[in-house]
Amino acid sequence: MLFHHLSAPAVAALTPDTPIVFPLAAIEQHGQHLPVWTDTLLTQSLIDRVSARMNDRVVFAPVMWLGNSHHHLDFNGTLSASPRVYLDLLCSLMDNAIEQGFRRIVFINGHGGNDVPAKQATFEVRQKYSTRDDLLFLMTTYWGLGVEPWTCDPSIVQREMGHACEWETSMVLALKPELVGAYSTLPTVEPGNPFRPGVRAWKTKDRTGPGHIGVPNAASAQKGELLLRLFSDALVQWLDRVVAWDGSSWEG
Ligand SMILES: [Zn+2]
Repeated sequence: MLFHHLSAPAVAALTPDTPIVFPLAAIEQHGQHLPVWTDTLLTQSLIDRVSARMNDRVVFAPVMWLGNSHHHLDFNGTLSASPRVYLDLLCSLMDNAIEQGFRRIVFINGHGGNDVPAKQATFEVRQKYSTRDDLLFLMTTYWGLGVEPWTCDPSIVQREMGHACEWETSMVLALKPELVGAYSTLPTVEPGNPFRPGVRAWKTKDRTGPGHIGVPNAASAQKGELLLRLFSDALVQWLDRVVAWDGSSWEG
């Protein structure tokens, strides 16, 4: 069910164990060929598919288009809240939900720059309510649930999400092909990083001239439809576990 379709009394009448999902996205540059709307479009599309399948078991807030994208600010089209502002914003959302009785609060994220602030928000708010034992705060990024799309379609080149890459370009081709510019001649930009598995701080211009990271030239609408199906299936299975939580224990 959609939070924004409910009246105030209908929100008040929800069972407090109904998980509330805050979908997180961004408006930011996506290379030379994809709209700045890409992360919001893809997150919205996945939430549409998932919410239709979860029925009344989960309530979904509107997709938040403003994300933490400061690493993309060298490129036009990027709108960004700084990491600390974004962190406070997410903590405020969680406080709103807790004050209205929700116990299961879930961030479903569709933009890499939101990953650290969203995780931090769940930990900060957990410590704030440290005397409670009936709270479940969760965060996931939709491509982080273990989906291996190349096992379903061996022509899929990438083994991880990039940026304005094979995966994202394919999904936008499946949803809004009229918004995709010339992609078949774009160069491959390897994700790189000789310090893996350590984490190196970066800004986008450190890694790419045109703004994409990955293999957009391998994209297709067919791959995009497969990716959307696999990611939405994974999200439904994960949310089933959130619904099934016993309400107090660590093991669930
Ligand atoms: Zn993106």
